[in-house]
Amino acid sequence: MKTLRTLIALLGLAALATSVAGCDPDLVGEWVVEGAGEAQVAPPVEADGVTLMREEEKLARDLYQANFERYGVQVFGNITASEQRHMDAVLGLLQARGLPDPAAGQPRGVFTAAAVQDLYDALAARSAGSVEDALRVGAEVEEIDILDLQRLLDETDAADLLDVYGGLLDGSQNHLRAFVGQLERRGVPYQPQHLDAATFAAILAGR
Ligand code: ZN
Ligand code: ZN
Repeated sequence: MKTLRTLIALLGLAALATSVAGCDPDLVGEWVVEGAGEAQVAPPVEADGVTLMREEEKLARDLYQANFERYGVQVFGNITASEQRHMDAVLGLLQARGLPDPAAGQPRGVFTAAAVQDLYDALAARSAGSVEDALRVGAEVEEIDILDLQRLLDETDAADLLDVYGGLLDGSQNHLRAFVGQLERRGVPYQPQHLDAATFAAILAGR
């Protein structure tokens, strides 16, 4: 199924950042990093990326947690715990920049960004079909994460973002291997939905 696109594409982040950068300097002041000696202004495109990743990690955590409860398959439980650590790491990036947390107080399955909400609702509905459907959805979420993280890594030189996003990318590649492995054990082949064939094959081979 080719209906899903990466969240960055769905949210049109680059266009959003451009429009914000052109506005009120007071608004841009929201990105001042506190306690860093000289005040630093985080570029809006980076702020948007961190805010998106916080909810993208929550989407993965919430979905896998629901699927663990529904199917009792351990891979969902293990990866839920990993996604919680990813959420925590991104929260640290938001806090370091004095940015608001879009996930604050949000219960499972509830998101601030409408595009993330729509994606969650679609993926949750597809996960309800069978455990194989839920595993396929998991693999697809990880593909989306990998593409979004690669793009965010390309867009920044900030050391903390490179560090955290790099860790998240390693995690997403592990998760993709885990979901595809579970499908193969069930005799269900998985074709990449978003990654190109060469990148997908390299990730599965652990390169
Ligand atoms: Zn993650
Ligand atoms: Zn993941």
